[in-house]
Amino acid sequence: MSKQALIPPPGQQVRLADYDPSYTGEYASKKDVRKLIKRNRRRLRELQEVLYAEHKHALLIVLQAMDAGGKDGSIRHVMRGVNPQGVQVTSFKVPTPEELAHDFLWRVHRRVPGRGSIGIFNRSHYEDVLVVRVENLVPPEMWQRRYEHINAFERLLTESGVTVLKFYLHISKDEQKRRFEERLTKPEKFWKFSRGDLAVRAKWDEYMAAYEDALTRCNTDYAPWHIVPANHKWYRNLVLSNTIVAALERLDMRYPPPEPGIEQITIPD
Ligand code: AMP
Ligand code: MG
Repeated sequence: MSKQALIPPPGQQVRLADYDPSYTGEYASKKDVRKLIKRNRRRLRELQEVLYAEHKHALLIVLQAMDAGGKDGSIRHVMRGVNPQGVQVTSFKVPTPEELAHDFLWRVHRRVPGRGSIGIFNRSHYEDVLVVRVENLVPPEMWQRRYEHINAFERLLTESGVTVLKFYLHISKDEQKRRFEERLTKPEKFWKFSRGDLAVRAKWDEYMAAYEDALTRCNTDYAPWHIVPANHKWYRNLVLSNTIVAALERLDMRYPPPEPGIEQITIPD
């Protein structure tokens, strides 16, 4: 199997059929990646400490996927062990009347992490060009303009010190079926099943088309999309943790220097 790009080539129309959701690169099984994931976890913990202490940069992780695509599992696995004080997870649901009375980025902007923090979006402003488009929740002229609004918004964030990492967790329709079936048979997963998800599944191809446009039109050099093969959870977790660690490494963060004259300070008994 040939190598598969994680970031689609900018400017090129994304065709999801070209991306294998079962791709696992050079690894054959979970056993092959256990050590790597563990190492990333340790490194992420150290990097988050410096991020928090330096108070200069912020990291925003955007997770998008079809239902059962693994958004919740990704958050659980990748963030295991990080200091909760520096992390804020936001799950975007059907907008409230108050949210609907504002522009679509209003509810999103206020959840963007501040300096020193990591923010995770479980769904995001992309719902406003995905479910909103497929379900005709606003007229086409309105959602069509949103790609540009999103790009401008993400540019603002990037230029304000926020690193934006966007992940599309790519599962196959078959894998979704398998995961839905688990939700019908495993007692600890019953709560995850929602009949409404079946109506969304029935429009799979329309959603794929909407995703392809979002992945194409909002794949900027400053906030690129990552298409993560997600049929195998262990590979998905590896890709996510590799990417997050690499992004934080690139920030070249430092613990703040001591205040001047620190060597003269003695702590009284
Ligand atoms: P869940 O992630 O399973 O808790 O479901 C959240 C639901 O909220 C999904 O069905 C999303 O499609 C829906 N949702 C999230 N954002 C929006 C939005 N901007 N407009 C309409 N529905 C949304
Ligand atoms: Mg759901």
